Amino acid sequence: MAWPRLCYACGSRTSDAASRCDCGEPLWLALDPPSDWPVTNENSIWRYREWLPVDAPAGIGAAAGGTPLVRTRRLDDLVDCRVHLKLESTNPTGTFKDRGSAVGVAATSGPLGTVSHGNMAISVAAHAAASGRPCSVLVPDDIPVSRLRQIAEYDPRILRVTGDYGELYDATIKIGSQLGIRFLNSDTPLRVAGQKTTGLEICEAFAPDTPDAVVLPVSSGGHASGIWQAFRDLETAGLIQEPPALYLVQAAACSPIADAYQAAQDTVSAVEPAETIAYSIANPDPPSGTRALTAARETGGGVIAVDEEAIREAMTTFAEVVGVSAEPASAVTLAGLEKLTATKQIAQNDDVVLVVTGTGFRNDAAGSVTTETIPQSELAETLKAHH
Ligand SMILES: *Cc1c(COP(=O)(O)O)cnc(C)c1O
Ligand SMILES: [Zn+2]
Repeated sequence: MAWPRLCYACGSRTSDAASRCDCGEPLWLALDPPSDWPVTNENSIWRYREWLPVDAPAGIGAAAGGTPLVRTRRLDDLVDCRVHLKLESTNPTGTFKDRGSAVGVAATSGPLGTVSHGNMAISVAAHAAASGRPCSVLVPDDIPVSRLRQIAEYDPRILRVTGDYGELYDATIKIGSQLGIRFLNSDTPLRVAGQKTTGLEICEAFAPDTPDAVVLPVSSGGHASGIWQAFRDLETAGLIQEPPALYLVQAAACSPIADAYQAAQDTVSAVEPAETIAYSIANPDPPSGTRALTAARETGGGVIAVDEEAIREAMTTFAEVVGVSAEPASAVTLAGLEKLTATKQIAQNDDVVLVVTGTGFRNDAAGSVTTETIPQSELAETLKAHH
């Protein structure tokens, strides 16, 4: 089924199952928001069934979202504002990606796929396993074996694809629709629809008020897009008066969205990335970068970059001061907040939510790893041979 889709940038609507508008920007699902908060005790993304295109699936997809919001007073003195943590580590595979995977899996049938070498690969592979569907995970050829093991645990087909990894994103959407493989990539409309629930949960927790700011790590811009759509839907529904300011944080080693913000540009351009420990947010050519940039500007927030040393320090602070093991990509929120309060963009009495997007707990999964290495030119043929 194709739900109506809308372009945030030019306002075009389509009923095609497209991911991109003719103007080049990503589409999101256009679902009319209900006029009130849910009346249910459900504590998962399915609490917001009225905001979502489908019903909950059986299995782990039913357990996505409903993550805790924790007030951490011990951080207040360090960063000079009122800090709350949205702990995404309680999702079935330890990151917010499960919100999008759950909706993507519930809304489709047949073989699944994704282009990821990190948390999204783990999430899609796990949700595919839970629904008994074949899954192809496309990783870069030079992926470290420790990360491969974490994906391989769920036994998807893992293809190490040589050639330009960035180009794979669009290629899989096209090849996938030809072959009937549903690629749930980082900003596909169904994934963004599921990831909207982070924003709904944060706002409902503060209702009828809203937090002053939400600080989020950003890579592809898919999560930021979903959260922005939640704020817009809630405003449309009259459930919030003003959206929280959305601040996005990148690692300085790979910061195309922060660069565009700093340079007061309207669109995000690809950058040449350097190495960062925050590999989960190291997308040098973010498919929803411009949409994320727009979200930050429209909500009165901003986009900043933090260096490696600040990321390491923030990880230590999370663990030692509030007992939270955050992966480097999530620790950037605290490093970013320190900058935002130092420059008075966030004030002393502001309520600020840091979205701790992923767990620091990934253990070394046991078991063997099987992969195939193929050139990108053989991708369609190789995928076809399997499904
Ligand atoms: C994927 C991911 C992000 C970035 O989300 P985008 O939707 O790609 O912007 C941030 N943190 C963690 C832990 C992630 O896995
Ligand atoms: Zn458009």
